[in-house]
Amino acid sequence: MLATSTITPIQNHESPVPEPKTGKRVVVAKELGYCWGVRRALEIVEAAAETTGPIAPIGDVIHNPQVVERLRERGVEGATSVAEAAGRGFRRVAITAHGMGPHLAGEAASAGMELIDTTCPLVTKVQRLAQKLVRQGYYLVVYGDSYHPEVRSVIGWAGTSKAIAAKKMDDLPWNAPRGVTGEGVATPPRKVAVVSQTTKNVDELMLFAQNLQAMVMPEGGEFRLCNTICEPTSERQNALKRLVEEDQVDVILAIGGRKSSNTARLAEVGTSLGVPSYHIERIGDIEDSWLSNAEIIGVTAGASTPDDVIETVVADLARRGYSPPEGGIRPIDPEYVPAY
Ligand code: SF4
Repeated sequence: MLATSTITPIQNHESPVPEPKTGKRVVVAKELGYCWGVRRALEIVEAAAETTGPIAPIGDVIHNPQVVERLRERGVEGATSVAEAAGRGFRRVAITAHGMGPHLAGEAASAGMELIDTTCPLVTKVQRLAQKLVRQGYYLVVYGDSYHPEVRSVIGWAGTSKAIAAKKMDDLPWNAPRGVTGEGVATPPRKVAVVSQTTKNVDELMLFAQNLQAMVMPEGGEFRLCNTICEPTSERQNALKRLVEEDQVDVILAIGGRKSSNTARLAEVGTSLGVPSYHIERIGDIEDSWLSNAEIIGVTAGASTPDDVIETVVADLARRGYSPPEGGIRPIDPEYVPAY
């Protein structure tokens, strides 16, 4: 059963919301904001900090500066490494929802630190799959951002030099299909498998995979594509597509931390559908010129964006004369568990 939304109709007691102008309104995607994995990770780390004391997640526990600040006040403060956390006096470290390579458990044990693992189970699935594909003899391509902790964790668990992160063909160590020979030519091995960073855009993944498949398949090559984009990410992208189709929005605001990969993808999805789309972190990022001809503003938010940040943006748009969405943002199903 769906619980009542945690978002109540937008109100601001300091500056009353003016009567909306005719037709100007905000519509919100049916799926937006905190995903299941981020919500789960925050619950684990907050409960642990409350019962056992301060915890240092290695890296950002979440790609949202407002939440990072709130967690700091509750004794959850990121560190760049186990050694740094130990030097700052922490006795507990945490793996974030993005996951970490297997080295972290060893480092924590050596430093005598307790380790709390909040890796999203949907990321763990990709890590295990990477190991399996490598055992089966595939060269592993992780479609994603090479600097992203999740991608680095998947490559770490793959535990091989025959694994690479790539998000465009130029990132690959090959430049010609199998069977082609000649000076400067590099062709793929016989077996290549692709997994994806969980927050990528499925249309772009398919395009990348098609191009790579054409390179691998000649001369008896084997190619395998595993679509590991997670269900919550797909749902957010699909909800945004439906918003564009059904509500004919003029502008899309995708709300999320600047480092949030999935928020950036949402803005890209909006742009690819022909709607001017902007990735914003806070209301100060909104430029008046974006809204000058906009009647209907579509709002979406990345998987690490808390409800109150979304609410603040909607309230700001209400002050600019846009009716807030009827009934608030969205209901939360406390029993939801994504398929994996
Ligand atoms: S975006 Fe997907 S994989 Fe990442 S934490 Fe959320 S549910 Fe898990």
